[in-house]
Amino acid sequence: MANLYSLPDLPYGYGDLAPYLSEEQLKIHHTKHHQGYVNGANKIFKMLDQVRKSGSEYNVKSILKELSFNMGGHELHSFFWTNMCAVGKNGEAGNFGKELEEQFGSLDRFKDEFSKTAASVEGSGWAVLALDQMTKRLVLMQIEKHNVNITPNLPLLMVVDVWEHAYYLDYKNERGKFLDAFWNVVNWAEINKRFEAMT
Ligand code: FE
Repeated sequence: MANLYSLPDLPYGYGDLAPYLSEEQLKIHHTKHHQGYVNGANKIFKMLDQVRKSGSEYNVKSILKELSFNMGGHELHSFFWTNMCAVGKNGEAGNFGKELEEQFGSLDRFKDEFSKTAASVEGSGWAVLALDQMTKRLVLMQIEKHNVNITPNLPLLMVVDVWEHAYYLDYKNERGKFLDAFWNVVNWAEINKRFEAMT
């Protein structure tokens, strides 16, 4: 039998990203918002199990849209937690860092483009760095909500959540200040591990 989702533990304590992200901000994001997507997807999974068993109908178009929203939310948040780290535990970017310099010119240029990608997402969404396996190009993407604008099958390297719920308690409406703080808690070693596994 297929399983349901569960909320993954964070790989650090709620207070470990302070002062860049407060304990309260991180806790509410993880336990309320991320949990909401887990619950939303599970509710649909259970409903699908039930209607398929009983042979009854469901509204395919609207349910699939809601399912991809909640699944995207769960997967992106699960990914996001692991590309951040406790303060001071950033590690080395290694070969990934070299590739960033090769393709973007410098680490600073990459950070600037990634931050601008995140800052200019319309409304709620994500900035993403992915790897196109066909060309080995590092590709920036803006995902609206959790599931709009995704390029199918590009494996993700790093993401940042720019929904207001990710930063509002700490930074109010100032998304740029949150993004400046984000760079202090990027887990370069983990991203490099992902990069090396793909190349
Ligand atoms: Fe979020």
